[in-house]
Amino acid sequence: MAYSYDDTNVFARILRGEIPNKTVKETEHTLAFHDIGPQAPVHVLVIPKGRYVNFDHFAAEAPDAEILDFMRTAAEVCRMQGVAPGQEGEGYRAIANSGTHGVQEVPHYHLHILGGRVLGRMLP
Ligand code: ADP
Repeated sequence: MAYSYDDTNVFARILRGEIPNKTVKETEHTLAFHDIGPQAPVHVLVIPKGRYVNFDHFAAEAPDAEILDFMRTAAEVCRMQGVAPGQEGEGYRAIANSGTHGVQEVPHYHLHILGGRVLGRMLP
């Protein structure tokens, strides 16, 4: 599968410093920041710094070190926000919308971390 990355997308612009963001955590390979239109009291986006279109692309082509850093950073962000299981926030949902049916708007891979309230059921 050949993936085509659009460098004009809003997260690419954030990574280039052209648009400000409210950073939660930054590492060598990963950036986490508050969503501009939060759908829950905690709504953080975690993105790789590399040019990956979606989950499929990231999983297929990112070097192991970038995937490991991404996963560890996402988990750390949940702890930082106090929503990791066992913390007061009592859990969260991590979602990656992909493609047209997944209603992915921004074509740079990102994980939504949502928490701080009881979230509605998604699956029957
Ligand atoms: P959807 O909008 O259907 O959730 P995505 O999964 O592509 O589609 O999510 C894009 C997310 O990026 C949205 O939650 C949106 O609020 C957020 N967003 C868009 N622009 C910015 C920005 N400049 N800073 C932070 N978050 C942003």
